[in-house]
Amino acid sequence: MAREKKLTPMMQQYFEVKKGLPANTLLLFRLGDFYEMFHEDAEVGAQVLGITLTKRSDYKMAGIPFHAAEQYIGKVLKAGMKVAICDQVETPKAGKLVKRALTRILTPGTTIEDNQLDSQRNHFLAALEYDKAGFSLAWIDLSTGEFTIAHDPKPDDLLPVLVSIDPAELLLIEGSQENWQKNSHHNPVYEELIHFANSRATSELPGFQFDSDAGAQSVMETLGVINLEGFGIDKKHDALGCAGALLHYATETLCAKPENLSSIHEYSAKESLLIDPATLRNLEIFKSTRGLREGSLIDAINGCKTAAGSRRLEKWLIAPERDIDELNRRLDCVDALYANPMATTELQDKLKSVRDIKRILSRMQNRLRNPRELGGVRDTLAQIPVLRQLIEEATPEGATSMVAADVPAGANDAGSPPTHSLLALRDALHPLPALAELLDRALKEELPSKLDDGGYIAKGYDPELDRMLSLTTDNKVWLAELESSERARTGIKNLKVKYNGAFGYFIEVTKSNLSLVPEEYIRKQTTVNAERFITEDLKAKEKEIFHAEENSKRREEELFLGLIEAVLEESHALTETADALAELDVYCGWSEIARRWDYCRPSLHDSDRIDISQGRHPVVEQMLRKDSSGLAGSHAFVPNNIDISASENQIHLITGPNMAGKSTFIRQVALITLMAQIGCFVPAAEANIGLVDRIFSRVGASDDLARGNSTFMVEMNETANILNNATERSLIILDEIGRGTSTYDGLSIAWSVIEHLHRDPDSGPKTLFATHYQELTQLDKHLDRLENYSVAVKEWNDEIVFVRQVVKGAADRSYGIQVARLAGLPAPVIDRAKEILEKLESEDATVTVSAPAKAPVAKPRKKIKVAKDENQLGLF
Ligand code: ADP
Repeated sequence: MAREKKLTPMMQQYFEVKKGLPANTLLLFRLGDFYEMFHEDAEVGAQVLGITLTKRSDYKMAGIPFHAAEQYIGKVLKAGMKVAICDQVETPKAGKLVKRALTRILTPGTTIEDNQLDSQRNHFLAALEYDKAGFSLAWIDLSTGEFTIAHDPKPDDLLPVLVSIDPAELLLIEGSQENWQKNSHHNPVYEELIHFANSRATSELPGFQFDSDAGAQSVMETLGVINLEGFGIDKKHDALGCAGALLHYATETLCAKPENLSSIHEYSAKESLLIDPATLRNLEIFKSTRGLREGSLIDAINGCKTAAGSRRLEKWLIAPERDIDELNRRLDCVDALYANPMATTELQDKLKSVRDIKRILSRMQNRLRNPRELGGVRDTLAQIPVLRQLIEEATPEGATSMVAADVPAGANDAGSPPTHSLLALRDALHPLPALAELLDRALKEELPSKLDDGGYIAKGYDPELDRMLSLTTDNKVWLAELESSERARTGIKNLKVKYNGAFGYFIEVTKSNLSLVPEEYIRKQTTVNAERFITEDLKAKEKEIFHAEENSKRREEELFLGLIEAVLEESHALTETADALAELDVYCGWSEIARRWDYCRPSLHDSDRIDISQGRHPVVEQMLRKDSSGLAGSHAFVPNNIDISASENQIHLITGPNMAGKSTFIRQVALITLMAQIGCFVPAAEANIGLVDRIFSRVGASDDLARGNSTFMVEMNETANILNNATERSLIILDEIGRGTSTYDGLSIAWSVIEHLHRDPDSGPKTLFATHYQELTQLDKHLDRLENYSVAVKEWNDEIVFVRQVVKGAADRSYGIQVARLAGLPAPVIDRAKEILEKLESEDATVTVSAPAKAPVAKPRKKIKVAKDENQLGLF
């Protein structure tokens, strides 16, 4: 109480706002040209932002200039904290406390400011609930209006998409993380979730905000619909609670309802190709193992010219398809552009001039408006007619321009040519001539990024604004004339009419001329060399000028709002246009990459077979071209074939020395399949791909110490996940299974994993199994769908040469010592190793393993002499 009594009115206002804020939020309080932080916020803010902490009477303060606020806010968000903005909401008047209000809370997942977003990536806020009823998920990108929900009883089916969307912020029910921690004992799902939540901003909200009935209501209200049937979503959908939590949070942070949401989609794991989190990492789809975009698949196949295109590509990679028609639609587009390089190059050139319409619209709809972005809409619309024309040029002759929906059922059977997907894309590019003309006429060529700066409406658009502006100009002319007439009248040659913020307009006379100053001049200020005066006339004119400026600014803002309204009226058509532009950009990029790297159109079908000839690894191939100094010696990528089917030759066991190219080969098969299932051309001469439902991988002995897991534990978790979830339609790549434990344990596990995958008498998941256990090659005698392959090497003068060719049959030796020599092990170590090997081999120290006819787990018969006492081997 005592403290409250002492508070100034402004501090009372401050605490009033502060008390309603969520935890971990810095309050930026507008004071004149600064945003100030007080008390603890000032301490934290000063540290995070590296600014000075000051002390005034009894409280601490730290401030940032209002003009540079966005940059500073970005830093706070990056640190995983939130920022609340409290602005002045009336023009300040001397001696009166200015009214202030909370205008926005910025959080890592809800910010929509251009410079706080990665233009190339989607920016999601996700809500997650995991209980007995299953796994519910909702995610939203406020910067583009994308809104999706998903529910599945099994978490394994939704974890892949959660990890792929990589949300900037995660909302959970209070206590979730504690719960997971308690139940985590080597439960991979909880472990994945804990790691996932720890690596991003996470907010826990009270359970009632996840209520599904309230959620359904709130979704319907936000989308302006009375039921969700139009979106194919049941009003009892389990994930509507999560969707409600997102909307609640978004409304709280925007301090208003989000205005750019118009639809909601359901993600279905059954319709997508699922790639579990470990496989996403192993195959380096979004990031390389070093955590960089460079070296990832997405980087290798991104030829986009626009940020929205890159985001579309990311979206497709997050949820690859299993729908052949949709994939063929995409492939048709790439194909047409592939065949028309000239038109494609021109299209790409034009795409460089289109702006990020979806993000611009989202900001306009959510009250973040500036003239430059309005210009972005104008500049984009200007490109539409020529883009449409170029698409037509690229479309194969004979294609009709009817959109798919217009084609009556069975029309194709009657012999009419099918609609080409590119033309459907053209039809989704709306030129909006009236809006284009309006913006063209209304806006100046160069536009400021801040509304306050004024001067963005073109001359001739509004007579009233022109009149106001000419008044200002006339007044300025009057001032210039005043200067020369006063010089003449007073005889003061260097008399000047000047302006500054504190005094407005004044006349300046240097000290040496003061004797010539006329009587009616009123002295205002003395400087070192001069005196400053005003006159009655000058002050009257000044009033006129200020008035005219204020009026013209107000008029300009009115006109601006009118233009914004005109744009928002077309938001539906503009969104459709933006979507089509993004898609077109992806196709152009893909067709260009396909030409540059000699990719082919994959042929897709519903069979259980994958048949690729002359396949290459899309990333390694590009890397080799860039850097030819690798151990490989040759910088051209050696293509390889594969023909694998679930029912005939389901398991390919691949042996060969380290560094031969086994991992690269098995990964390339997975990547080519994945690329085909997003609709991209693939690095091969020919590819027939029977669509797969999941891709699994267990690659390399990656340590996961950050998560407190031993290498072996990770390996076994990942293997368990594969064995529990793989279906006949899945593709599995396994690399060096069992390496993290003793030879016998490892070999036995690898052996029984293979048997398990082969357990069904007719077919099983297509599996590529790379291993250094030579013993496993004998399995082909007992498992009829297992075939041996090896990556060939040549020996030359006790050296090995990698030829990178996958050939039928098992490798005869492992060449470990030769590879060690290539890696630069000192010569004495190499010589000694050879000596030991010879000794071991002469003692018949090989492991021979007999395949059990039916036994579920192999029991290797031991023949090796383990050198417990090295003297036994006679090596010492
Ligand atoms: P392994 O799994 O057999 O140890 P990797 O697949 O890791 O071998 O390949 C080792 C290196 O050889 C790769 O990093 C790559 O530079 C090169 N390489 C692999 N496959 C090929 C290929 N088909 N053509 C050219 N170079 C290749």
